[in-house]
Amino acid sequence: MDSRGIKRLLFSSVFFNYIFITIQTKEEVLLDMKALGSELGWLTWPYEQGEKQGWEVVQRSLNGSQFYTYSVCNVGVREQDNWLRTTFIQRRLSASRVFVELQFIVRDCNSFGASSLTCKETFNLFSAEFDADVGTNFRKSQFKKVATIASDEITRHDLRINTETRVVDGLSKKGFYLAFQDIGACVALLSVRVFYKTCPATIKSLAVFPETVAGGGENQALREVAGACVENAVSEELPRIYCTVDGEWVVPVGQCQCTAGFEAINDTCQECQPGFFKASVSNNACEPCPANTQAHGSGALFCSCTAGFYRAPDDKETDPCSGLPSAPQDLIATTTQLAAGKLQLTWSPPEDTGGRDDITYSVECRCCMGSACQPCGEKVRIEPFSSSLTDTWVTVSELEPSINYTFTVEAHNGVSLTPGQVMPRSNRPPSASTVTTSLHYTDPPKVTSIRLDDRSPTTLSLSWAVAPRRPLNRPTRYELTYRKKDDNLDVTSYTVLILEKNFVQISDLFPGTAYLFRVQALSPDGSPGGSMEEEFETMPEVAPSNMASILGAVAGGAAVLLIVAVVVLVRKRRKNSHTRQGPEDTYFSSSEQLKPLKTYVDPHTYEDPNTAVLKFASELHPSHVTKQKVIGAGEFGEVYRGILKAPGRKETAVAIKTLKPGYSEKQRQDFLSEASIMGQFSHQNIIRLEGVVTKFKHAMIVTEYMDNGALDKYLKVHDGELPSFQLVGMMRGIAAGMKYLSDMSYVHRDLAARNILVNNSLECKVSDFGLSRVLEDDPEGTYTTSGGKIPIRWTAPEAIAYRKFTSASDVWSFGIVMWEVMAFGERPYWDMSNCEVMKAINEAFRLPAPMDCPSAVYQLMLQCWLQDRSKRPRFTDIVSILEKLLRSPDSLKAIADFDPRISIRLPSTSGSDGSPFRSVSEWLESIKMSQYSENFTCAGVVTMEQVLQMKNEDIKNIGVRLPGHLKRIAYSILGLKDQTSTLSVFAV
Ligand code: AMP
Repeated sequence: MDSRGIKRLLFSSVFFNYIFITIQTKEEVLLDMKALGSELGWLTWPYEQGEKQGWEVVQRSLNGSQFYTYSVCNVGVREQDNWLRTTFIQRRLSASRVFVELQFIVRDCNSFGASSLTCKETFNLFSAEFDADVGTNFRKSQFKKVATIASDEITRHDLRINTETRVVDGLSKKGFYLAFQDIGACVALLSVRVFYKTCPATIKSLAVFPETVAGGGENQALREVAGACVENAVSEELPRIYCTVDGEWVVPVGQCQCTAGFEAINDTCQECQPGFFKASVSNNACEPCPANTQAHGSGALFCSCTAGFYRAPDDKETDPCSGLPSAPQDLIATTTQLAAGKLQLTWSPPEDTGGRDDITYSVECRCCMGSACQPCGEKVRIEPFSSSLTDTWVTVSELEPSINYTFTVEAHNGVSLTPGQVMPRSNRPPSASTVTTSLHYTDPPKVTSIRLDDRSPTTLSLSWAVAPRRPLNRPTRYELTYRKKDDNLDVTSYTVLILEKNFVQISDLFPGTAYLFRVQALSPDGSPGGSMEEEFETMPEVAPSNMASILGAVAGGAAVLLIVAVVVLVRKRRKNSHTRQGPEDTYFSSSEQLKPLKTYVDPHTYEDPNTAVLKFASELHPSHVTKQKVIGAGEFGEVYRGILKAPGRKETAVAIKTLKPGYSEKQRQDFLSEASIMGQFSHQNIIRLEGVVTKFKHAMIVTEYMDNGALDKYLKVHDGELPSFQLVGMMRGIAAGMKYLSDMSYVHRDLAARNILVNNSLECKVSDFGLSRVLEDDPEGTYTTSGGKIPIRWTAPEAIAYRKFTSASDVWSFGIVMWEVMAFGERPYWDMSNCEVMKAINEAFRLPAPMDCPSAVYQLMLQCWLQDRSKRPRFTDIVSILEKLLRSPDSLKAIADFDPRISIRLPSTSGSDGSPFRSVSEWLESIKMSQYSENFTCAGVVTMEQVLQMKNEDIKNIGVRLPGHLKRIAYSILGLKDQTSTLSVFAV
């Protein structure tokens, strides 16, 4: 058989077997001999064909398709060197390593008999790299050998197809050629496939990796590939993976996870469905919303609480939401120890705990008068606590009798006071229970000791102590009963005296005689309190030379009785003077003569408040106003002292009120409303409006400047320095201003010394007008239940109870201002709580006379504080009374009764905490006389024992000159020595 016949045989027998083998591989084919058909165009060498036949192409047809193979079979001829070179194969994707898969048949040399001498059973594979196609320019020397190809199966009788794959590595140029060298074998080359392997583009662990040529360069088995997380996924480290030479992805590094609100589904991150949430970056699936929550739309990061449910600050966003508790149940107040002002509040837990177990309670105490309620303050003790209670009871103590107390017990749970909880308190489910109670007992006063202060043959001076000693809760009267001790009890003759003081001098007694005294305290409503009995004896008969002193003592006794008589008289007069019309009845009566000439116009009646400003105030140019120094802080901004220099007018000192930046239009109007009001007034004792700046950005109100500032501060600084005459003169000015205002039907509502300004001639002028002013900016203002603010200590009871503000309530406040003036700026009712003040007023107690207060002045105060407002004097009356007093200064000489323990609140034996004073300076501070500390030290008075030895002369000698201060110090020393000393002792 010739070689051509063998070639045909080779071809026909194998074709069917291999054509249908489909190989599933991630391979990119660069060259496929079979697919090229007749277009092979491979180069054979040597070129000349003849005896020495080289590789030749053989064509066969099968089912209408053409197939080509190359074969060579020069087994009987020596020195064969036949080359077959492929076309230029372009490298792709910078694949440096390609696979060459060959299918071929090699005949067994033995089957050629004698020809087999030169017969070979192998051929060689070569390759050569180029940057361009070199066409037919073929040079053997340019090719490098890749491998010797031998068949696994040497074909003897049956022809078998061999498949061999070789790697051509380290490729770097644009392309390459393969060449097959035959050196004398009988070979049929059926298929040449050149390919490289890739790892296909893939998504692994939510990271996308691009298609990658298999294997690393430089013969490396693995190629590292960087990926990127899919949309809505993130990873801490860059995701990486390795592509093996076989085109397989291995060892992914770095984990991509879906962001919050997304979950992994089929290699993508998808939004959580509505009603589901995912709070963080994780591989977890979205979770359904917990109880009482909802997720708005898809992709929720958390589920928000449904209306009426909340999360506590410590709750996690993944926790369910809980509701507020309902109100505690069965709240009752039980009086435990009535007389001790104690009660117990008990309640049961709320029916609905809001689904939580962290229930606590708070207890709030308020005392009410009419619609005005005040927090009870610190004086009322709630034990064990008033908030964060876990028990369902508290004990309340230190309650005052006859006050209406309202206790509110509120249940809380972890979500009750969540910050940022948007629901206003009023819209929340009612979590509070309220009980109102009052203790109906009258704290009966009790006499605790009676002592003999002085005695003579015919007199006994007694004093007694009483408990409780709260200044405004003291019994007003005492019933003193006495009789001779040895009286025949069958015919008892005893004397009864009703006294308003806790001391007395009894005269006209028998010398050397024992008397039995019983003192009973009477509570304010007249009910008897605790009494005490003691026995004292008069001095024996004295010689005539001692008569003078006895007379003196008798005179003293008469004086005491006189005081009692005066008090009784004054009270009577007061009762009879109530026939006049009430102040507001008068002010607003239809009688023609009484109509005020001009009436104040409420700027609110103007639709546009700016019109009111323009009408009542003159506009100033800011360049005419110079600010010099901050002198105070108003509600709306700083107050400056400055200069006004308007054209054609002389320079004047002014106060400039400014409006702080960032104000709202409403604030601007409120600010300017003060000018609209002030501008309507023109009176010597009303602060004068110079003008306003409204047409420029920085609005201002310019008023006359008052050198001495606010009255309360001025008086404190000049404590004791001004004589009564001067003080009464200041009051007259204020009263005149108030008369003017009331004539104009303007009700001030916040008359207090802090709102009176004083100029350098000590003229007083009423200030602080404005609309929102009504007490919004007054630190004394306390909120009432109706939301308004009221300065309790200055306000008439009807204005507190039902907001009846009239000129008559201004008169009440004027009485308090008179008291402030006479007490040199002392705080009315001292440190009593607002509740205590309201209670005391309700029970008809009034502020006691300040030290050195002319009796007539105190009487006027008491008139201003009449419960029935129609009986209070009108400002016009007040002005004429004060003017009358000023015209006859002697009328100021009679000084009102004064009890230092009440009226100047001298601490008696101890400091505020109940312990004795530790030092002289501590004591001086407690009576507000610290300025004399050095005088005491320089005089060598350094211990309280030394202080107690001091006489009035000593106090004067160490440099205390002002009579007011002298008295205050002397009283305090006496108080320290003896709580029940009598007044007559300390004429200074
Ligand atoms: P007011 O906003 O009116 O309460 O003013 C605040 C403070 O500024 C007052 O307490 C005074 O000390 C001071 N002040 C206000 N107006 C004047 C004025 N016309 N003359 C002097 N000081 C004033």
